[in-house]
Amino acid sequence: MINFGYTIQTDRQIDYDGGNRRILNAVRKGEPSVDWCMSCGTCSSSCTAAVSTDYSLRKLILLARRGIEEEILKSVFRCRFCGKCINACPRGVNTRNVIYHMQLAASKIQNHEI
Ligand code: SF4
Ligand code: SF4
Repeated sequence: MINFGYTIQTDRQIDYDGGNRRILNAVRKGEPSVDWCMSCGTCSSSCTAAVSTDYSLRKLILLARRGIEEEILKSVFRCRFCGKCINACPRGVNTRNVIYHMQLAASKIQNHEI
């Protein structure tokens, strides 16, 4: 085969039916404003935890929507609850409460309670 200098990538599709959305559902119950999130990333750019780690609230909400739990469990506890993200969010999402309920759901999953 002729080498044109590039490779064909495999399909990158999001399988919304493949994930488990129990974290998102738990967060929605405790803090419905999570649905106002438009993934702008403003919260992450002002985040204290993001300075020294790969923590990103924007990413966590996206992962919860897609039902990808493993990655949420890896980083959700890095939040320091400083509250800077609440002031930054242009949609008025109660971000600190979102994280609180996300951590609560993550703890329950780790303890096999849900
Ligand atoms: S409360 Fe958590 S997510 Fe929000 S800015 Fe502080 S460390 Fe970041
Ligand atoms: S700043 Fe608000 S709207 Fe933007 S990604 Fe963060 S939570 Fe979502």
